[in-house]
Amino acid sequence: MNQTIEELRSFLSQPQKIVITTHRDPDADALGSSLGWASYLLKKGHEVTVISPTDYAANLRWLSGMEHVLVYEKASEQGKCKKKIEQATLICCLDFSALSRLKDLGKVVQDAAAPKMMIDHHLEPEHFAKWMVWDTTAAATAQLVYELVKEMEGGLPAEQIFDIPMAECLYAGIMTDTGSFRHGNVTPAVHLAVADLMRTGFDSSRVHRLIYDNAPLSRLQFLGYVLCNKLTVLPEYRTAYMVLTEAELQKFNSASGETEGIVNYGLQVENVVMSAMFIERKGEVKISFRSVGSFSVRDLASTHFSGGGHKNASGGRSEQSVNETVARFLSILPSYQEELLSVD
Ligand code: 5GP
Ligand code: MN
Repeated sequence: MNQTIEELRSFLSQPQKIVITTHRDPDADALGSSLGWASYLLKKGHEVTVISPTDYAANLRWLSGMEHVLVYEKASEQGKCKKKIEQATLICCLDFSALSRLKDLGKVVQDAAAPKMMIDHHLEPEHFAKWMVWDTTAAATAQLVYELVKEMEGGLPAEQIFDIPMAECLYAGIMTDTGSFRHGNVTPAVHLAVADLMRTGFDSSRVHRLIYDNAPLSRLQFLGYVLCNKLTVLPEYRTAYMVLTEAELQKFNSASGETEGIVNYGLQVENVVMSAMFIERKGEVKISFRSVGSFSVRDLASTHFSGGGHKNASGGRSEQSVNETVARFLSILPSYQEELLSVD
């Protein structure tokens, strides 16, 4: 780590043309960490462009700097994205560890001449980056950005390094990736980072409201529909799951991101230790898994659904039909029964 910091410090002592990118369907940690890092680099005099592979949810629009984020998937912005990547002297890859998480942008980043830097907390990273700030014990990439910036600045108090919009971006990432400080990934380092960031004077309650209490009415109605009609609980496997077809998503006019977080509701059912959500979208099935305690949904997602992530929050995808995918999920549950029943 020390050598990486030294090398980065030296590389960043000259103005660079920097592209920051993050995973598809970016969440608050993906965009919050990217924008927090971007604003630090901008302050240091670099030219910085943040590129998201796909569009993002409306409740993230308020994050500072979002108005300049380019979306690769948008035809009108793709040319500019390619040009920025071609001209870049550094490409920072935040909150993902495999280029496939960039969708079509992955190949463009892979082929780019610029050296890459990874800041991430996912398991099993691919080795495409020259510099890796990678720590799976970090709860959020935003926490790693905080720690990296602190280290680059020789440990100065947060209020001398971070401004309020930067602190809000990083807090948004840490808050969401820890499920508002209640998941198993919360450590003393998480609270210390947040305590230090709060010295900037930002309003943490406002960040919470802007992320969680800022949904269009349609999202709540959609959630009501899903919980009433689409949540199945299998007590014998301590598992809950939901299946959403493309037609249902269209009926509720569900934009990308509007399903974000719904999978967590499965875990609110008593005794349930695994929740899964299957979403049929654009010819494939996207699957989200959540678990508690010792049960690893990352292993399940990587073994059966070409995915990965974290022990208690993972995702995957399937090219089979939604019915076939769910049937496959149900058929593997017996092999996990013992493990599911033994979760504390
Ligand atoms: P979500 O369910 O919110 O989409 O994803 C939960 C976690 O799993 C995130 O940390 C995300 O990075 C990871 N994840 C989601 N989908 C995939 C996937 O297709 N492949 C891998 N490797 N990780 C995924
Ligand atoms: Mn993250």
